[in-house]
Amino acid sequence: MAYDAEHRDLYRAFIDQGLQRWLALLPEQLAAGLDRKRFGDLPAWQRAVEKLPELPEQRRVTLDSDTLTVEVALSDADRAKTESLLRQLKPWRKGPFQLADIFIDTEWRSDWKWQRVAPHISSLAHRRVLDVGGGSGYHGWRMAGAGASFVLVIDPSPRFFYQFHALRHFIGDADQHRTHFLPVGIEELPPQLEAFDTVFSMGVLYHRRSPLDHLHQLREALRPGGELVLETLVVEGDETTVLMPGERYAAMPNVYFLPSSKALAHWLERCGFTDVRIVDEANTQLDEQRSTDWMTFQSLKDFLDPQDHRSTIEGYPAPRRAVLVATREK
Ligand code: SAH
Repeated sequence: MAYDAEHRDLYRAFIDQGLQRWLALLPEQLAAGLDRKRFGDLPAWQRAVEKLPELPEQRRVTLDSDTLTVEVALSDADRAKTESLLRQLKPWRKGPFQLADIFIDTEWRSDWKWQRVAPHISSLAHRRVLDVGGGSGYHGWRMAGAGASFVLVIDPSPRFFYQFHALRHFIGDADQHRTHFLPVGIEELPPQLEAFDTVFSMGVLYHRRSPLDHLHQLREALRPGGELVLETLVVEGDETTVLMPGERYAAMPNVYFLPSSKALAHWLERCGFTDVRIVDEANTQLDEQRSTDWMTFQSLKDFLDPQDHRSTIEGYPAPRRAVLVATREK
């Protein structure tokens, strides 16, 4: 199987990182996360990644710029083939990426989120990092670009697993095999892991039915004294304000709790975090999340009240996001 090598890489990394207890669960987690019976499109995604042309060793990879960039020479035929294979992995939501002269203009300007987050966190140099719900791995590679020694992206969506591996094909050895992807949700982490120096949860909390359980799971993944970076949808208000929308919020079917940033800070304190800081809070701009050639479905502008962009189509406050940073108690 073509993924054996990639999986071997993951196993080796888990051994190097001393994640033995989790290692024992990997075969089952990989099999379940990439189960062809559960995900009908999966074989097509796998084929698309496997058909990507061999690339010359000589390339220049830039992980620490807003557009993750791989400069590499491609023949016209390989370029056309590559673009068509990458398009088979659509929709591309998190990026952007420049691969040879192919620009993957993703739905989200994920670089803008990184700009709101990066100035406020402890240096990632030599740290072991977990990115929960990390999508295609865009932020994970930015974390490697910022010096992390080990980055584990987890996301239960197999489409993102294959997007990650398409990107990995281009990035090659340039990140020294520090960045890995495991197709699982946070609930599949072994309890009391205490393994990571920094844990990111961005764009995930509002999708969780039990937000406090989510915060506890994030806490358990951190070593004592480690840092949590939490980004989520919020509403305006004080420590007591929380919105639970109806069936849909901005057209999304699975949105549960939207606290104010102050309420969220309070939750974090109740869950055993200290030094809780709200470092950024802003409404999402229309040019941060939009339809593109690589994500042709509807996007933010279609989910807002056309008469009044301060409201969603359901009449709730328009998407507003906060970044909080906190420390796990020692
Ligand atoms: N972190 C990225 C992507 C956010 S989108 C960013 O901030 O831009 C939310 C992601 O959470 C999706 O990729 C989705 O597949 C993932 N997700 C959904 N349920 C999850 C779970 N139980 N555990 C971890 N990730 C989950």
